[in-house]
Amino acid sequence: MTLLVEGATVVTVDSDSGSGAGTEHPTGHVVVDGNRITLVGPGPAPDDVRRSAGRVVDGSGCVLTPGFVNTHQHLYQWATRGLAVDGTLFEWLTELYPVWAGVDEEVVRSASAAALGWLARTGCTTSTDHHYVFPAGAGDLLAAEVSSAAAVGLRFHPTRGSMDLGRSQGGLPPDSVVEDLDAVLSATEAAITRFHDPAPGAMVRVAVAPCSPFSVTAKLMTEAAALARRHGVRLHTHLAETADEEDFCRERFGATPTEYVDSLGWLGPDVWMAHAVHLDDAAVARFAATGTGVAHCPSSNARLGAGIARTRDLVDAGVPVGLGVDGAASNEAGSLLEELRHAALFARAVGGPTALGVRDALRLATRGGARVLGRDGEIGSIEVGKLADLALWRVDTLPHAGIADPVAALALGSPPPLRLLLVDGRAVVEDDRLVTVDEDVLARDAATASRILLERAE
Ligand SMILES: [Zn+2]
Repeated sequence: MTLLVEGATVVTVDSDSGSGAGTEHPTGHVVVDGNRITLVGPGPAPDDVRRSAGRVVDGSGCVLTPGFVNTHQHLYQWATRGLAVDGTLFEWLTELYPVWAGVDEEVVRSASAAALGWLARTGCTTSTDHHYVFPAGAGDLLAAEVSSAAAVGLRFHPTRGSMDLGRSQGGLPPDSVVEDLDAVLSATEAAITRFHDPAPGAMVRVAVAPCSPFSVTAKLMTEAAALARRHGVRLHTHLAETADEEDFCRERFGATPTEYVDSLGWLGPDVWMAHAVHLDDAAVARFAATGTGVAHCPSSNARLGAGIARTRDLVDAGVPVGLGVDGAASNEAGSLLEELRHAALFARAVGGPTALGVRDALRLATRGGARVLGRDGEIGSIEVGKLADLALWRVDTLPHAGIADPVAALALGSPPPLRLLLVDGRAVVEDDRLVTVDEDVLARDAATASRILLERAE
């Protein structure tokens, strides 16, 4: 079945360099056949294409962009929002670990469905997840989130996270939420075997993701990297999020966080790091030379007062940079569209008015994220042959009508209504409402999950 969108401003993001977002058609058309984009052009579609289309969407008053790619998230945290709201990262973690120790399959299923549902509502078509809390007897947590992603209809890159450096070993997490190394490695390998799909167009791809230098041993880091590379899957972790982490690494390893992970074989084109806020010039150069990606999470970094990544320097150096909402416990909004806005604003707040253009920010949210996940040949831009992951935004209502530049409306204005979100050619959102799942059920189940976790923590 073919779907035609016409009359919208089409912002393709088909260029990977310069300061523009690539080809833009002030009024254009896009045709989707099955799960692929088959035609992109200016003006109305050819008559024969319109006649044979199974569905024609009138995009007038709208801007069509590639679907957004979320490169860092902890879905389970949707059930622990609004806690430790004024703490530093280490204070926040110390308060939250005991709450997270209560997660089980049902909590993860409900929290991830709600978080992914809201991501879809904010223009996201592909999301990662970084789950690293696996209490004994908690059930099949990864299967729960994979089933939630399938129900909502998003393209999904879950990672099998882990922690093995408990408090008794000098780490930060309580011993009750860490696993031993052999258990981590066998569960990680099982996750790849069960869920990873290397085929083109895959809806699920798995990556390997020990939590962070202050919750994981060096041995787990190196063995996890070897495991990932044996299976041809990507590697992910948190790095250089706060100044505290820098102190921790210097004291414990006599190195900066980047030097430390470099010594463990953890920089490379198959690796992406969440945050990367506190990088010196040498670290930026190492990221660039090795092709290591960055998941920039501006709202979470601001929420925890951690600082802000050097996006301009990273992009100029050629580092792959995408955007991430991070877990909802440090970003209650969980909105990818908001990350686009914050990426532009916070970069300018510290780097001046030219630090990040609105089209640069849009590119981070789309093509940049695709590159970080190793999928820039398939998603992240509106081009013939790419997967039909598209977001159609209304910019003709009260908050946006009359804004001269539709990309500025999206990046700097209020969040616009989402007319249509397609993932793999399938409608997931129509007129600001999820059509794959019942939003009210998601909200009710998420509230139940939060209540259960708080009761268990008492
Ligand atoms: Zn995180």
